[in-house]
Amino acid sequence: MDDLIQRAAKDLAAAKNVVALTGAGISVESGIPPFRGKGGVWEKIDPMEYAHIDAFLRDPAKVWNVLIKEMKGVVDRAEPNDAHRGLARLEEMGILKTIITQNVDGLHQAAGNTDVIEFHGNFAWQKCLDCGNRCETSQINTEQIPPRCHCGGIFRPEVIFFGELIPPQHLSRSQLVASQCDIMLVMGTSAVVQPAALMPVISKQSGAKVIEINPERTPLTGTISDYIIQGKGGEVTNQIIAKLEKLIQ
Ligand code: NAD
Ligand code: ZN
Repeated sequence: MDDLIQRAAKDLAAAKNVVALTGAGISVESGIPPFRGKGGVWEKIDPMEYAHIDAFLRDPAKVWNVLIKEMKGVVDRAEPNDAHRGLARLEEMGILKTIITQNVDGLHQAAGNTDVIEFHGNFAWQKCLDCGNRCETSQINTEQIPPRCHCGGIFRPEVIFFGELIPPQHLSRSQLVASQCDIMLVMGTSAVVQPAALMPVISKQSGAKVIEINPERTPLTGTISDYIIQGKGGEVTNQIIAKLEKLIQ
């Protein structure tokens, strides 16, 4: 693993335009469970029963009770971890330009990254299904489920449920930055949710190196990614940054 850390530090030091694609795994060390993989939410509940837009519209109270309420508690308390802070440091060093994140927890911005494309929306806000009125999730009273707007309409998180389209401006900008980077750093994503998982493929086809950081292999491993550093996001990032700081001194 030491060799791969050294290799990643060298690759990043030589790069001019790095883009990161991040997923739920990067927030695991902040106490937010991922969907898939060990300890994932899907071990307990069926995604199509709770995370599909049709399921939400059919029975908003059920989805609020089982998924959204719990997520609100976890996200309200979460703080950035070393993986988020490492990506913020990479931006500060002038190496990392843009993060495409599938996460909805806002932790990249909290860590200090300034160009974050939130592919699947942001959990920090809710929107009324009837009048479109917005309300911060932290201000939502969950004593009454589903929570309602003053107009009587039901609040939904401003995130993309399965069955919904990625906002076109987020998709097109992601495709653009993915095609222009010289390194695509893929961290903490199982790379199975489309079209997010296509971004590293676009980078590879455009001539970029693709580096994965994940404790487990993914469908990109050995096909799209040049190499995978198998470890936890925070720990691996700390080691890469330590080597990188020496290299660019
Ligand atoms: P995923 O849940 O499908 O996969 C998580 C991946 O993270 C796995 O490959 C796992 O091996 C890896 N992982 C686990 N621990 C890790 C660690 N410490 N460091 C690095 N990697 C680790 O996640 P996904 O690919 O992002 O797709 C799931 C969807 O769920 C996303 O679209 C996202 O919108 C949503 N989601 C978001 C959050 C969040 O905002 N934090 C949390 C759960 C799910
Ligand atoms: Zn309303």
